[in-house]
Amino acid sequence: MDDLKYGKRNKRGDWAPNDPVETAPLFAFPPKLMAILKWLPHYFFPWNVIFALSAVAYWAWVIPPVETMKTLAIGWALWLYAVNAVCVFLFYGAFELHLYVLKRQENRFKYNGRFPSDQKNNVFWFDRQNVDNMLRTFLSGVTIWTAIEVGMLWAYANGYAPWLTFAENPWTLALVALVVPIIHEFHFFCIHRLIHVPFLYKWVHSVHHNSVNPSPWSSLSMHPVEHFLYLGTAFYHLILPSNPVLMLYQLHYAGFGAIPGHVGFDKVEVGEDKLVDSHSYAHYLHHKYFEVNYGDALIPLDKWFGTWHDGSPEGEARMQERYRRRKEKLAARKARTEVRGAAE
Ligand SMILES: [Zn+2]
Ligand SMILES: [Zn+2]
Repeated sequence: MDDLKYGKRNKRGDWAPNDPVETAPLFAFPPKLMAILKWLPHYFFPWNVIFALSAVAYWAWVIPPVETMKTLAIGWALWLYAVNAVCVFLFYGAFELHLYVLKRQENRFKYNGRFPSDQKNNVFWFDRQNVDNMLRTFLSGVTIWTAIEVGMLWAYANGYAPWLTFAENPWTLALVALVVPIIHEFHFFCIHRLIHVPFLYKWVHSVHHNSVNPSPWSSLSMHPVEHFLYLGTAFYHLILPSNPVLMLYQLHYAGFGAIPGHVGFDKVEVGEDKLVDSHSYAHYLHHKYFEVNYGDALIPLDKWFGTWHDGSPEGEARMQERYRRRKEKLAARKARTEVRGAAE
């Protein structure tokens, strides 16, 4: 597959798409009906359908009977941890194996020409990005994921969360299912913006940003506080009229859904001639430049708040302009305090 049909590669070997990243047309004003219809299949396939089906499969084969979940017990919590850990290992591992270990598509469509395993870096545990990222994923990531899952299922089993049935409320639940990704986007943008506040960035979010060149295992490589905030999207279902399956979908959307944003490749080649979009360029630019693209462009929140970078030269210029203005502001503030200091 010739990736230069879709983008260009610079001297360092970094590939970038030709077209700027577009935000989803969902919130465009005036509404763009044709654009929405064209975009709609991408809303479902393949990612959202995978995460939704995984929730259905969990409900069918993994989640214990409601009677069991009425009481918090280590047995069923450990069972859920084990299943989550195996699923994360298989799902994340499949991308890692395909793209980073066997390097089946070499560096075609790869944003950063280098592979993280090529370099040692002492910001990581044991100096290795992969070892660090995997340990954080399984030690705190899957643990906190499971704890939230157990807490929510216990709440449902005891009637503390509004539980509608698909038989009685199919339309309400269909609507909730449709907005699961929108809830995620809103929640992710808010907590992500919050943990970029300098104090929280230093203590919490910098862990995730250690992976400047993200790879599949970077997806859930976070500080435990960020794991809790990030996977806490499930808590919206404590107040939403919903269903445990949709709560699981919400959780899987965060847990498994972190993968596409961090694969490091714009497109994953499947077979001879099929390409699957990862839609991850916006988040890749976030890992590269830190202060752009706090969201994933489903809701144009970054556009509204002036932090959008679509990868184009105009996007780059907007970012530089923002940095310049901030620098000026800081310099002016510093000058004012100095003048005041001298006068006293
Ligand atoms: Zn990230
Ligand atoms: Zn960030």
